[in-house]
Amino acid sequence: MLVLVINSGSSSLKYQVRDVAAGTVLTEGLIEKIGVGNGGGGDGEMVGPRDHAEALEQVDAAIHQELGDLELGAVGHRVVHGGERFAEPVLVDNEITRAIERLNPLAPLHNPANVLGIRAITRKWPKMPQVAVFDTAFHRTLPEYAWRYAVPDELYTNHGIRRYGFHGTSNEYVARRSAALLDLPVEEFDAVIAHLGNGASVTAIRGGRSVDTSMGFTPLEGLVMGTRSGDLDPSILVFLGRAGWTPEDLDTMLNRESGLKGLAGHNDMRSVVEASEAGDERAAMALAVASHRLAKYIGGYHVAVGGAKALVFTAGIGENSKEFRAQVADRLGALGIELDGGLNAERSKEPRVISTPSSAIPVLVVPTDEERAIAEATAAVVSAGR
Ligand code: ADP
Repeated sequence: MLVLVINSGSSSLKYQVRDVAAGTVLTEGLIEKIGVGNGGGGDGEMVGPRDHAEALEQVDAAIHQELGDLELGAVGHRVVHGGERFAEPVLVDNEITRAIERLNPLAPLHNPANVLGIRAITRKWPKMPQVAVFDTAFHRTLPEYAWRYAVPDELYTNHGIRRYGFHGTSNEYVARRSAALLDLPVEEFDAVIAHLGNGASVTAIRGGRSVDTSMGFTPLEGLVMGTRSGDLDPSILVFLGRAGWTPEDLDTMLNRESGLKGLAGHNDMRSVVEASEAGDERAAMALAVASHRLAKYIGGYHVAVGGAKALVFTAGIGENSKEFRAQVADRLGALGIELDGGLNAERSKEPRVISTPSSAIPVLVVPTDEERAIAEATAAVVSAGR
């Protein structure tokens, strides 16, 4: 089955056409600046497509130019927030679209854009099966003691304030591939997975299911990320609020100006590592803060899963930064974790083991592929008619 995978943002639309059986990408692209005017004259001249519907016309034209006539079997959408309702991918209909829309307050930057993408397809190809694949769904197996915040119950019952977790599609895919690499059925896979991209999270996997994860109500909680702070004392926000910071000021500071960028001045791990190696002390400290935080989470989650059988690194930093992996592993000596310097330094796109034979548990690098996971899930749902 050919599946069009759509990752729709507020002003961008990423797409891939995939052949699911062959596991290949036939074409891919990115439409940017949706709804962005040139800001100049008053004639409303656009620099990008007017809206998501127009962006989709461009996608359609690009696909046909690239691949000629082809029959798409389905469209798979990356949807950020599935709230408490969605524990697995679903076939989209009007009711499901409205349900995703009702979750907008929980993901105000993402879900409205996902809904625009779904509606644009519905209008253009009314008969096309569409599947929503939720970033939160894999974490619906968290036990209540892991998803509860210790705040008055009313915040949960009236406002849905609880931990949801993100990067679920990636974790589910990486868990499956890691278990296969270790020759274990995924139901017997107990591990800690560190998904380290621009956004970063770590997840505790017991029996192939998520039992704890570091992102919470939003993707802000947990690790030090490219531009996000991760964990901090919430009283800081009260303190700054009293000092006159608005909610928008706080949001910008925590989500866009913190993390590696706040500490080192660069949000890109490559730049931080280079600066640190050139003697920049702020960059070295940023790496220390980020690796210390991650090592603490890994230690905690080793306990949460009742003894992990593997530690897995994935996503841009996890797959590529031997320096960051080494720093994290250095802090995990108490768990008996030991990297093989040579294996850690090898560059490869394949899932692989990078620890020594005497390491207490294997350390793996397993490349993630969220689009592939979405395409496979979409084909499975459409074939099963769910
Ligand atoms: P996103 O969360 O946007 O999908 P990615 O998974 O692409 O992000 O990860 C982006 C991060 O990966 C950036 O911090 C980038 O510096 C880092 N990265 C990518 N390639 C390398 C590399 N070769 N060495 C070190 N870090 C890398």
